Parts: sequence; structure tokens; C-alpha cells
Amino acid sequence: MNDKRYDVVVIGAGPAGYPAAIRAAQLGLSAACIDDWQNADGSRTFGGTCLNVGCIPSKALLESSELYHRVHTEFAAHGIKVDGVALDLNAMLERKRGIVKQLTSGIEQLFKGAGVTPIKGRGKLLAGNRVEVTLPGGEKQVLEAKHVVLATGSTPIELKVAPFDGKRIVDSSGALEFTEVPRRLGVIGAGVIGLELGSVWRRLGAEVVSLEALDAFLPAVDQQIANEALRQFKRQGLDIRLGAKVQGASVRGDVVEVRYEAAGAVQTLEVDKLIVCVGRRPVTDGLLGEGTGVELDQRGFIKVDQQCRTAAKNVWAVGDVVRGPMLAHKGTEEGVMVAELAAGHYAEVNYGAVPSVIYTAPEIAWVGKTEAEVKASGRPYKVGTFPFSVNGRAKALQQAYGLAKVIADREHDEILGVHIAGPFAGELIAEAVLAIEFQASAEDLQRTMHAHPTLSEALHEAALAADKHAIHALNR
Ligand code: FAD
Ligand code: AMP
Repeated sequence: MNDKRYDVVVIGAGPAGYPAAIRAAQLGLSAACIDDWQNADGSRTFGGTCLNVGCIPSKALLESSELYHRVHTEFAAHGIKVDGVALDLNAMLERKRGIVKQLTSGIEQLFKGAGVTPIKGRGKLLAGNRVEVTLPGGEKQVLEAKHVVLATGSTPIELKVAPFDGKRIVDSSGALEFTEVPRRLGVIGAGVIGLELGSVWRRLGAEVVSLEALDAFLPAVDQQIANEALRQFKRQGLDIRLGAKVQGASVRGDVVEVRYEAAGAVQTLEVDKLIVCVGRRPVTDGLLGEGTGVELDQRGFIKVDQQCRTAAKNVWAVGDVVRGPMLAHKGTEEGVMVAELAAGHYAEVNYGAVPSVIYTAPEIAWVGKTEAEVKASGRPYKVGTFPFSVNGRAKALQQAYGLAKVIADREHDEILGVHIAGPFAGELIAEAVLAIEFQASAEDLQRTMHAHPTLSEALHEAALAADKHAIHALNR
């Protein structure tokens, strides 16, 4: 840390913060990025939640566990006989750790390449756009910045009635590090993270019970898609109990006893491990010094406008610490936007075209509005759906389940929402994001040629079905 004056100082090197620093440097600004992430082994890495304990390690384990599951359930259908399949959980965890290590150290290389000054330490915003950094040894330094970007992310919410003990009652990070497959696993919260982690351990052999307080399953997801996914999850043996409000959990010897209320009665559940996935809260502890002018909303998020300006001049906030979906790519786009704005360019994020993906089987992916939202808006609309059960590529993959759904304005034909439950939905949704970004019509998608045989043909057929001329369906 030789230079103490920067054009841009970013606090937080997760997927919102590090791209902000890199983009600022690309635009010729001097940039520093401060992060205090510390792993259980004491090492310090960049990449935030996403790379260290979030998107990347969860997807690594989802892939490994899916392969393990498919060996047992699908290989025979392919005519492949396998004997003596065994799980080497340690190797599986090591693979995941290797991927995390490569990607987190990759950020250091990117910083080096772009000319961003990396600082491992804790940042605190002071009045007058100064940032105090506390280095790991306790030494303090003050940086001056023309612009400060707050990108301090989020952390798991702890339930008072089921406090983490790090061993039997764990958060999502703990659930990525079980050293043996729990025989009985409880998951509180059937949201995105709870479903993904429950799926990992279910595929590896755990009996999984998921307790969800709400009566609706995945209420933010188009309900036709959510219902299809729920059907598939049940077939996989995931025991998802809706309307189950957890009241308490206590460790008794080797087991966790969970008490929850469902249908007016108190029930108990005994499990070997319990994952609490009831959401995440923004991290602002110790971040804001006296008189910075930065404001928080009632839920503790940093208040920002559409372009991520806080109430303080030239102080920006991006990613999980501000309103909007807690998604890595949403934070990245915000980070890039504020760097461009700080450099004097125009930039904006299209919050109407943020894709969401749940990496379960089936994968669930969507962009734009759900059918319920369109209906509630009173706008006339049309819907086309197409099942993967008759898609050639899905059949070849032995994954012919789920559906693609396109919702478009009935008069103007503009695509309003695309929802997919099925194989590689997370990849397929990219085409729909582009369609919505370009305000494409259903006809645009209909007239776009899709390679055969591909999963993307299901999306093409769903667009055709919206006007009742799908080729491989009856169009009733
Ligand atoms: P973070 O990634 O949380 O990074 C913030 C960084 O700031 C951290 O390194 C933190 O240590 C640091 N920091 C905080 N305060 C200070 C301070 N005062 N000084 C210095 N540094 C500080 N999202 C997806 O889009 N796709 C997925 O598949 C996905 N899967 C997920 C799976 C799991 C298990 C979890 C937990 C999350 C997942 N997410 C996923 C969410 C995603 O990880 C977050 O949306 C994303 O990491 C938010 O990025 P961020 O940069 O805002 O914050
Ligand atoms: P998400 O916000 O996607 O991370 O999902 C968190 C889920 O946890 C939501 O669906 C909540 O309804 C659920 N949840 C929160 N508190 C409880 C609780 N005490 N018991 C069961 N589910 C809960």
C-alpha cells in the first residue's frame, strides 16, 4: 500500500466489488480494493461469498453429487453396467476446494493485470470520502478517495431458536464441508440455497427433510414451474414440508431435535445435522464511521437510488448490501455500472432482465415476470409451454422432464417472462435474457433458427405455442 490516494476505493472483493475495481482501472482510474475475508484455515482470499462459500463451491458439489446420483439411476438405461460405485467424499470436497482456490487466486491475478491495488484488511468509511483500513496485524491506515464503493455483501441469518453451533446446526458454509454424509439431514428454509444444499446431500444418500414456513413453494417462481419442480423433488425423495414453522432446535448428544409447528400442531423431527438456510442479511457492521451521510433502510440495507448512489456524494453501494435480488451477477452489473459512472460515462442496470437460476434437478431458471405478476398487472397476455418430455436432446440426455414457458403481451407480442424447469435451464435462460433485453417479441423468438437436436428447441416451441403453432405439440 504505497499510494494512499485513489480515484476509487472499493470495500469488499466479492462479485460486486472486484469487478467495480477492475472496470475502474480499465477506464484509467486508480483503484484499490479492500477485503477482510478469512477462511477457516486462516488464509485470506478475494472473491467474497460467491467464490469462497457460495455460488462456486455449491455448484462444484451439485455437479459431483449429480454425477454420483446419475451413475445409480441413469447409467443402466444407457446400457452401462457399473459395479462397486463408491463415494470418496474427501476427494469430492478436495475437488471443490481446488476449484475455489483456483478462482480466488485468479482474482489476485486479475487485480495485478488491471493495475488494481489489492488490500487485505478491514475497511471503514469515514466522513469526507476517506477509508480507514485495519490491516490483519492491527495497523491502521487512511486512504483518500474521489469515489468509494461499498460492496460488503451479506451473511447468513441466524435463527434465535436454532443457533449455529458450527457442528450439528450449521449455515450454508458449514453444509459445504460435512466430512461424512449425514444419515438424517434437516434443512430449515426451502429457498434457493436450502434446496440446492438439500439436493447435494440427498443425492449422496442422506434422508432430507426440508421445513418451510410458507404454505407456497418457491413463491417468487412462476407457480406452474414451481409445481413441476416440486413434483420432481418429491420423486427424488426430498421430503419438503410446507407450512412448517420452526420453533426451536436443540442438540442432544449426537442428534438435533427440531420442533416445528404445522397445521396447528407442534411436531418434532430428529436429525443428525441441521442446515439453517432462512435467508441472508446485509453486512454493514462497523462499516460506517460518524458523519458519512450514508443511510440504511429499515431492513439494514444501504439505501441507494436506481444507479446505486448512496445519500453521500460519490459514495456508491452495490451487490447484496443493497436492495434487489441477492445474486452475484446482479452485483457484478451494479459494480461495473458504478465504475463507469465514476469515470464520467453513462451506465445503467436493467433490473427487468435479471436472470435467476436454481441449480437443482430440474434446474429452474427464469427472467422477467411470472404469469401471476402479468395477470395481476391486468395486461392482456398469452402463454406458450413446451415439455422436455418430447424434446429429442432431453431424451438423449435421459433427462426428459420439465417444461419451458414463454409469456408475451397478447396485443404487442413483447416477451414479458420466460420460465424453465428442466435440464440446463440455467444455460438456456441466457437466450431469454437477451430477448427481454432487446424487447424481443414472441415472433422474434419464433423466427430465430434453433439448432436440432438441442434443448433450446423447447424454448423455441414454447414461443410458437404462445401463438398456437408449435410443430411438435397439439396446440390446444
Ligand atoms: P459478497 O460476495 O458477500 O462479498 C462481500 C465481501 O466483502 C466479502 O469478501 C466480505 O468479507 C467483504 N467485507 C465485508 N465487510 C467488509 C469490510 N468492512 N472491510 C473489508 N471487507 C469487507 N448467487 C448467484 O448469482 N448464483 C448462485 O449460484 C449462487 N449460489 C449461492 C450459493 C450459496 C451457498 C450462497 C451462500 C450464496 C449463493 N449466491 C449465488 C449468492 C451470491 O453468493 C451473492 O449474491 C454474492 O456473493 C454477493 O456478492 P457481493 O459482492 O455483494 O458480496
Ligand atoms: P431464501 O430467502 O430464498 O434464502 O429462503 C429462505 C426461506 O426460509 C424462505 O422461504 C422462508 O420462508 C424460510 N424460513 C424463514 N424462517 C423460517 C422458519 N422459522 N421455519 C421454516 N422456514 C423458515
